[in-house]
Amino acid sequence: MAHSRNYFIRTIVQDAPRWGIVEGGRAYALEGSPFAAWERAGDIGPLGDLRLLAPTLPTKIVCVGRNYPAHAAEHAAEVPKEPLLFFKPPSSVIGPDAPIVLTPQSQQVEHESELAVVIGRRCRNVAPEEAWDHVLGVTCGNDVTARDLQRQDKLWTRAKGFDTFCPLGPWLVAGLSEADVADLSVTCRVNGEVRQHGRTGEMVFSPARLIAYTSAIMTLEPGDVIMTGTPAGVSPIALGDLVEVEIEGIGVLRNPVRGSEH
Ligand code: MG
Repeated sequence: MAHSRNYFIRTIVQDAPRWGIVEGGRAYALEGSPFAAWERAGDIGPLGDLRLLAPTLPTKIVCVGRNYPAHAAEHAAEVPKEPLLFFKPPSSVIGPDAPIVLTPQSQQVEHESELAVVIGRRCRNVAPEEAWDHVLGVTCGNDVTARDLQRQDKLWTRAKGFDTFCPLGPWLVAGLSEADVADLSVTCRVNGEVRQHGRTGEMVFSPARLIAYTSAIMTLEPGDVIMTGTPAGVSPIALGDLVEVEIEGIGVLRNPVRGSEH
């Protein structure tokens, strides 16, 4: 079945968050939501004039560790035989251009550029062959990680869970087939310098397999995010840096890095 490709955003209109859709560089309000029936409504202005929010409100963010062999190798870790899952809390989510805030608890905060898959329909116990039918679309994600705390702690909740440690955006690209995302370049730049570069085709477990595996454990709700792992090249970020995650054909997610005020 052919799908039309749609670019959904969340933004602020008259002090309230709302959904929109981008067409030809302009944004239009959405009546309804991308997860249900919707219609294009009034013009809300040029995209560049809008403050964008993260393009989903997940009840959970399910992440996978070491899903790219080259990244596992850089930490001298083995590629897992089954997906190695962990969570980031919804409170860690920020949108494009919002600052990643460093924490005094860590001396080594690192970027992880990732393809973020957004669930469109509730699913539980789906087979890999049916998993993609439950996806609304994809966006760029940054699984920001306090690497020193990850090494220090047995569980990764602290290392992965600080506020602002899950930038998502700039928009949710819907109407893609599984094949459309099977081999996209995933890049991270810091202050314009390429730090990470890989392709989604290098993943050990494909997005569909991750959804099937996860849905055998927990119900996935519309808006939930699957972070599909990061390619090699993770490196520390510092106060004043500008971090960019780019996924081929999807977009560029930019976030500045700020210090903590306390
Ligand atoms: Mg990661």
